[in-house]
Amino acid sequence: MTNRVFNFSAGPAVLPLPVLEKAQAELTNYQDCGMSVMEMSHRSKEFTGIMERAESGLRRLLNIPDDYAVLFLQGGASLQFSMVPMNLYLQGKPVDIIHSGSWTKKAIAEHKKLCEYRLAASTEADNFLRLPKMDEIELTGEASYVYMCSNNTIFGTQFKQFPETGGVPLVADMSSDILSRPLDISKFGLIFAGAQKNIGPSGVTVVIVRKDLAERASENLPTMLQYRTHINGGSLYNTPPTFAIYMSMLVFEWLLERGGIPAMQKINEEKARILYQAIDDNGFFYSPIPAEDRSTMNVVFRVAGDNEELEKKFVAEAAQNQLCTLKGHRSVGGLRASIYNAFPLEGVKALADFMADFAQKNG
Ligand SMILES: *Cc1c(COP(=O)(O)O)cnc(C)c1O
Repeated sequence: MTNRVFNFSAGPAVLPLPVLEKAQAELTNYQDCGMSVMEMSHRSKEFTGIMERAESGLRRLLNIPDDYAVLFLQGGASLQFSMVPMNLYLQGKPVDIIHSGSWTKKAIAEHKKLCEYRLAASTEADNFLRLPKMDEIELTGEASYVYMCSNNTIFGTQFKQFPETGGVPLVADMSSDILSRPLDISKFGLIFAGAQKNIGPSGVTVVIVRKDLAERASENLPTMLQYRTHINGGSLYNTPPTFAIYMSMLVFEWLLERGGIPAMQKINEEKARILYQAIDDNGFFYSPIPAEDRSTMNVVFRVAGDNEELEKKFVAEAAQNQLCTLKGHRSVGGLRASIYNAFPLEGVKALADFMADFAQKNG
């Protein structure tokens, strides 16, 4: 096998090597059934087994209560920006949106088309380089739901706490930090996550929804856009993204084998600690994000003075050292190391060493 690089991509992102190897071993002949997962009917006994294992793996990892449905949908996290209001909006009860970055901006654009909403908080005036504090969030208490994004993949901010919403359902886009830390699912009405950051390959989106909320939707909504359809069909109303679900199942089982979410949280905090220390301890780099808002998943940093030439050089030289995809998002520039669950600790240490070396040579 040729050398794999340390892949800091924000998404689609690195997958655990043992998962890729397992999929490779089973690729042409899944469990002696004589065909690939990609070639089998989604109604076959083998695929039904995969679907059950995927759902039960996720339920075990997150302790998902029985009154919540687990769905595997298509359309990406981006479709949820409109599916959520289509299904959960109640006439005359504007949605409270906590605006913290590019992904909530996109969600707001869809809400604007579909329902009434208000901003319960926004850090746009600070260019989203910080999160609203809990006491800056003004909830009406009467909203259809409160909407937020738990981890801002592009800006590198992550909520360490969730707002108390009382009886109002909390909806969270957790595309880039689901499964990175323990969650009390019962505090949420709906959680969604595109798989390609911290779950599996692109093509499948996980939705965890309290079943009673799915009953808010009009029966006149297009069938495919109702959560109800997918709850009743067990995510098999139509052909689901079978291979992506299979890969996600392997990732869930890999996580369970490694001690589940509490074990991952420990490693994730350690990885983030090493990287932020490498940034803070060296005047050559800086983090634009206040310590309390920093993401453990997407570490955004810059060369002091926002020196773009040196940042370009950093990305190029890092890549020559097998440290790949460190360029910041095109909308904000700078540097970004995405270190999801599957990203190995030794890669983080290698980056920290490379940073110290680069600073010394170029400082
Ligand atoms: C990547 C990302 C999205 C968009 O996901 P798609 O699956 O490409 O639609 C939405 N929200 C967050 C937080 C993301 O990181």
